[in-house]
Amino acid sequence: MLKDSAFVPTVASTLGAAALMVAFHALIVSWESKRANEHGDAATNRHHDDAVVVTLPAWANDFMDAHKDVVFTSEEQMMEVAIALADKNVAEKTGGPFGTAIFECDTQTGSCKLFSIGMNQVATLHNSTLHGEMTAIQFGQKKLNSFTFGANKSLGKEYHLYTSCEPCCQCLGGTLWSGVSKLVCAASKEDAEAIGFDEGPVFAESYAALEKAGVKVVRNCLRQQGAKTLKLYGETGLIYNA
Ligand SMILES: [Zn+2]
Repeated sequence: MLKDSAFVPTVASTLGAAALMVAFHALIVSWESKRANEHGDAATNRHHDDAVVVTLPAWANDFMDAHKDVVFTSEEQMMEVAIALADKNVAEKTGGPFGTAIFECDTQTGSCKLFSIGMNQVATLHNSTLHGEMTAIQFGQKKLNSFTFGANKSLGKEYHLYTSCEPCCQCLGGTLWSGVSKLVCAASKEDAEAIGFDEGPVFAESYAALEKAGVKVVRNCLRQQGAKTLKLYGETGLIYNA
């Protein structure tokens, strides 16, 4: 009897433990499924207005390919790329006269390669946040698989943002959070405002905040060339403030 009575509780506890595990597993599956549904992770639950899709214009691939093997060593050479993006964007009618190029630079040698590009697509994609800087930052961080361009500092790589015109209030903030190590601008805020664009509340302190955060700022690099792009656009293009 002793043997039997000792055996029964052992079986019972084994069965009990198994039942508990099954129940626990079911609970986890149910919770994960509920969580997936709540977050729209389940593909079947996805509605088209649950997602915002940002795409580069069709010509962007060829633009990247044409520059992918070029080694850049001067600020002017890199700014030429940002201004070329602004010019191309206007010529192709894919957005406003603003272009941004982000370069991956070797901190030892100082040589840089084109890493990501962006251009103003506010009117074309119906999105007030899609300035050239924001687009280049978003595509660059996706490529980097990180929320910060500071991710590869220990590998001797940093990222420099070249923009054909000084950033607006949004993009100065976006640049600050992005983790880029350097901001280089061509046309000035005044050049943009001269054709009717509004840069928003941008102050000397805004640039000081970037410098304080360790972002080197260079302004007026090929300013006349950047301003010329704006001026030409100002004669015929759509001026909006967003
Ligand atoms: Zn902006």
